[in-house]
Order: sequence, then structure tokens, then C-alpha cells
Amino acid sequence: MPAAISRLCPVCGGTGAVRFLEKGELRLVRCERCGMIFANPVPPAYASGEFYDTEGAAYYLSPAKLASDYAPVRFERELRLFRKHCPRGAVLDVGCSSGAFLYQLNRRFPGDYQTHGTDVSGAPLDYAESQGITVRRGNFTEMDFGAQRYSAITFWAVLEHLPEPAQFLDRAATLLEPGGLCVVLVPNQRSLAARLLGARYRYVYPQHLNYFTRQTLRRLVARRWDVVETRCTHFNPVIIWQDWRSHGREVSNADRASLLQRTTAIKQSRWLGPVKAAYRWSERVLGTCFLADNLAMVLRLRNS
Ligand SMILES: [Zn+2]
Repeated sequence: MPAAISRLCPVCGGTGAVRFLEKGELRLVRCERCGMIFANPVPPAYASGEFYDTEGAAYYLSPAKLASDYAPVRFERELRLFRKHCPRGAVLDVGCSSGAFLYQLNRRFPGDYQTHGTDVSGAPLDYAESQGITVRRGNFTEMDFGAQRYSAITFWAVLEHLPEPAQFLDRAATLLEPGGLCVVLVPNQRSLAARLLGARYRYVYPQHLNYFTRQTLRRLVARRWDVVETRCTHFNPVIIWQDWRSHGREVSNADRASLLQRTTAIKQSRWLGPVKAAYRWSERVLGTCFLADNLAMVLRLRNS
């Protein structure tokens, strides 16, 4: 087996880190300088992205995962935040997978955006193309975009998968029009679910290399970007319940996708009015306290 790749802190470049937790093959450490929690060392297939073009692709193309991703409710929060800051223009979605975000953007606001997606995983891009999305294949940091510039570049649940997230943000910085925006969303390491579940949480797993808090995400972007808005969104009580009971047993990709599909169906159901009202209220309260599942930040290049 190829040797695992050793990393510096992806946020501050620090070399000192202490053990944080271990779960199966996954080793998480905590940077002594900035507090960032990250996987170290990392298997080469995750570091290079090769995993997503091989084993990972089946998950992103499973019928349950596609149904969940393409459900109108799936990117509701992301679309609302995006639309507020970028009402029109050229948009690049990095790590677009099967293209669902761009599909919804085009469908809901026809003619307002020119959209491109990029990913390292070939098969999901084939699917995106079948849905009318224009895609570019390969590693974002090595791609030639010619003279193309974007009004906004989005990273929905991508930075946590990257061995060097700062490189991706630096590359995005070179591709924005003056005043252009970068929008990122990552899991929140200080969420209620992460606090309650610790290593039991299903999202503590080998595909996630970086575990951001609001503070460490701010620190990652602070060098070059101004934060226009930070939001804390999403809450899935069913996952907390399931992961608590399973004691951190590995969740298969099929189970992961099937639960996403079921919770998406619940969110779309017209019959569960009071339950949904309670759910929305708890998501809002958790979000206000920065205890919800994800952190989203809208970034503008400084001096642009
Ligand atoms: Zn650090």
C-alpha cells in the first residue's frame, strides 16, 4: 500500500499538532498554534482526489443520492444565500459532482447565470452533462481557464475534502472578476451533532480531511478575503439519533444516501406541517448559536 501523506496544518502551516481522536484508519490531530483539527497522515487516494473518481463515484451516482441531490429542497439554503449576493453573472461550481446546484440555479433563474461545473470525479460529471450542465474535468488548481472570469465561485461541501484548501481558494482568487465572490460551505466542527457525537458522528470519516470551526475557517480565509456574510445552517436530528445508537459503526454509502433521500422526502412532504415548523425553529435557534451542521461564508477578495 502506498505511504500515507503527512501534512502541515492546512490553516496556519504550523508543524506542531497533538492527537485529537482516532476512528478506524482515520487519525485526527489538533494544531497547537491555531486549534485546527485535521486528518494526518492521509492516504494518497484521498489526498489526490483519485478516490472520488473510483470508489467514490458510485455513491454520488446511486439513485438515492441523485434523488436527494436533485430534489428542489436540497440546495434551498445555498440558493437563497447565493442569490442574495450574486443576482446574475458567470458562476463556477468547484466540486460540482452530479451538477445539482447549477441545475437548480439555471432552473429557478433562467437566463440570469452562465454556469460551469468542475470536479475530479468523471462519472458524476457525465450525469451533470446529461442534465445540461457545462463541465470541466480534472484538478481545479491545474486547469486552464484562458480569459474566462467569474462573478462567483462556489465550494459547496468541498474544502473539507482537500489536503490543501488554501491552494483552491488562491486559484479561485485568480479567476474572479473585480468584486467577484467566493462562497464556501463546510461542516461545522462545533455543531451540536459534532459535540454530542464526537467520533460517533458519521461525518468523522476518511473522506473528510479538515474539520473547521467558525474560527479556523475565518483564519483560513483571513489572509486574502473579507467575510461578507457568515451563516450557520442545516440540522438533521435523525442523524444524531442514528449515530448515537450505532456507537460510531461505519455507515455504508448506501445507508448514507438512503437516509438523505428519506429526510429530503420529509422536508418536501406537505403533511407534516407542525413537525416541520418545529424543525425550522430548531434549525434557526441552532444556527443563531452557531450550533447547526454547516458553516457557509460569502467572501470577497480584499482590495478587489
Ligand atoms: Zn494551525
